[in-house]
Amino acid sequence: MKKRIGIDVGGTNVKIALVDGNGKIIYSNSVPTYAKMGYEYTVNNIKQAIRDLMKETNTDSKSIDAIGFDFPGQVDYKTGVVKLAPNIPGWVNVPIAQMIEEEFHIPTRIDNDVRCAALGELKFGAGRGCKNFICMTVGTGIGSGLVIDGKIVRGAANAAGELGHIKLQMQGGPLCGCGDTGCLEAFASGPAIVAMAYDYIKGGKAAKFSEMAGDSEITPYIVAKAAEEGDPVAKRIFEIIGEYIGIGLSSVINLLNPEKVIIGGGVAESGDLLLDPIRRTVKERAMSVAGSSVEIVKAELGNSAGVIGASMLVEGE
Ligand code: ADP
Repeated sequence: MKKRIGIDVGGTNVKIALVDGNGKIIYSNSVPTYAKMGYEYTVNNIKQAIRDLMKETNTDSKSIDAIGFDFPGQVDYKTGVVKLAPNIPGWVNVPIAQMIEEEFHIPTRIDNDVRCAALGELKFGAGRGCKNFICMTVGTGIGSGLVIDGKIVRGAANAAGELGHIKLQMQGGPLCGCGDTGCLEAFASGPAIVAMAYDYIKGGKAAKFSEMAGDSEITPYIVAKAAEEGDPVAKRIFEIIGEYIGIGLSSVINLLNPEKVIIGGGVAESGDLLLDPIRRTVKERAMSVAGSSVEIVKAELGNSAGVIGASMLVEGE
């Protein structure tokens, strides 16, 4: 296999990488997104970054198999159009794949960030050798990419995988960013950890994380560090968050009977602190056959999952 280019577009930076046939990053760089300058400006910067990559790595259009883009938002995989990216204002109905193909004459595909991460994990990470798995990310929100029978599931309108919006409560519950209430994401994402931490402080529970944050805002990272140092309130917060995620996952595990659930995103950096209560809850709450055969593991590709997965999109058809 020849080399491929993976491009991970975020609200602040665009990461670009040249990836070899073994999923190894040979070269990487990043350019600012500057979304407020309009999408044409960002696209021109991306084109220049591709030219720079080719120059620096002594490659050209003929020696590169494919280009793949990863966007945090709604994309149409088939037409290569970015429909809407909430964190990148101005990117509405942008035919990015066509724009890049016309310039470089290299097959180009796009997908959303969690599906790219799932594809990366499938090819080169914790999903290697698996036919059925769920790749879930826990950060500012909760997202997922599904692999069934070795293929990425996109759904009828490219909207499959919204695990964060599984409802945990019939009526009421915390308000979610999607506008509804009672979604898993509203109960158990990074901001939910922070909200719970402040609630404990308001309730008069002396907690180490408050002391550790000092004058700064409490973050999930700080709560995790306090838990690692033995703070019982911080440990309890991760227990509760893990339980919510475990309950949401139990429904998906019952439905799909995956071999693995691969958990990534910033909050999963806390490792077993988050994973153990998830494992325990799934064991208790999922149906016994599906629940006892699923393995719940940490993602392997970390920050590079986006560029590595995106680079594989053309073959992922
Ligand atoms: P986003 O969803 O915005 O892309 P990330 O997936 O990068 O964000 O997650 C960012 C969050 O992860 C932050 O809230 C940060 O505090 C948290 N985080 C980073 N490292 C750790 C850690 N070791 N333990 C727990 N939380 C962490």
